[in-house]
Amino acid sequence: MKKPVYLDYAATTPVDPAVAEEMIKYLTPDGVFGNPASRSHGFGWQAEAAVEAARGQVASLIHADPREIVWTSGATESDNLAIKGAVIGREKAHVVTSAIEHKAVVDTCQWLETRGVEVTWLEPGSDGVVLPEQVFEALRPETVLVSLMLVNNELGSVNDIAAIGKELRDRGVLFHVDAAQAAGKLPVDVTELSVDLMALSGHKVYGPKGVGALYVRRSPDVRIEAQIHGGGHERGMRSGTLPTHQIVGMGKAFAIAQNNLDDEARLLESLRALFLQGLSGLSGVTLNGSEASRVPGIVNLSFDGVDAESLMLGLRNLAVSSGSACASATIEPSYVLRGIGLSDEQAHRALRFSVGRYTTPDEIAFASAQIVDVVTRLRAVR
Ligand SMILES: *Cc1c(COP(=O)(O)O)cnc(C)c1O
Repeated sequence: MKKPVYLDYAATTPVDPAVAEEMIKYLTPDGVFGNPASRSHGFGWQAEAAVEAARGQVASLIHADPREIVWTSGATESDNLAIKGAVIGREKAHVVTSAIEHKAVVDTCQWLETRGVEVTWLEPGSDGVVLPEQVFEALRPETVLVSLMLVNNELGSVNDIAAIGKELRDRGVLFHVDAAQAAGKLPVDVTELSVDLMALSGHKVYGPKGVGALYVRRSPDVRIEAQIHGGGHERGMRSGTLPTHQIVGMGKAFAIAQNNLDDEARLLESLRALFLQGLSGLSGVTLNGSEASRVPGIVNLSFDGVDAESLMLGLRNLAVSSGSACASATIEPSYVLRGIGLSDEQAHRALRFSVGRYTTPDEIAFASAQIVDVVTRLRAVR
């Protein structure tokens, strides 16, 4: 059987072979396997040096100081650490977020609500974008944190984080940004964006799964409470022995992303155009999300009169996603699509296609031809 075409890069990416090659050097007896926290011998010092080099690589992609990077197990943990760390223990805390954040933010904020924290859930426009004015109008004297994503993982829509951040800095409100889908896809500069906390993931950027980072601003100094206690690693913010190989992998992946940022964006833009062109013969196709403010790699489409589950069954040789990967164990319509105003029925007709570094024009041609074919057949038997 022909190998399926992978069009689910927003769920995860394969590890770049150059990253895997680097990682293996930090595991085996002849490699740098020491504990980076071991201070008494060279095995530890070498591992620590590797961790610090990677910290510099991750910091560099977002124009941060390496001392502002805290290693975590992924963007889920980073979101938890940022939000709980900024809010827990504050009296009468108020948080502003949106209804279409990643579950790592939504579920964390809902949990805080059960603990007495007040949360304002902003509703984005039909394009998936939250307007700066909506954020400012929601602010209260007791607002301690605003949490918004840079790029939405289901729609690819992009928020104007810089405009929001500037105002929040002036008002002294902490700003957390989930940038898991933005790093390596768009230029990201934490100073230009005026963010205080930023969640990053390794495996969305051709690094390994199970490693991420939280950017924590140093100037003006941001203080967050640790959520995992232990040996006081990461300046007390996140204890646990650092996984050297994972960290080195994420560092390498971020360095590659930085070197290829413009070329890769151009490649993905051309693949997107090719894909949409391939579907242009099909009527009744709606783009969900923003046409103007978006990343090139994610295309979310609804097909009139066609149920996404049936369509996916028909597209056996395409790996795509209905709703987000995290929600696909349930058959609930995507809360993100509902959150931008789609009816249950419209949401059930949507599929997310996401392309990446290893997608070829041939694969795109194959995918769009398959989609045209299956949608046409499904509509005929309706
Ligand atoms: C994938 C993703 C996460 C979760 O990242 P993990 O590293 O898998 O925990 C969080 N937010 C967004 C926007 C994502 O796309």
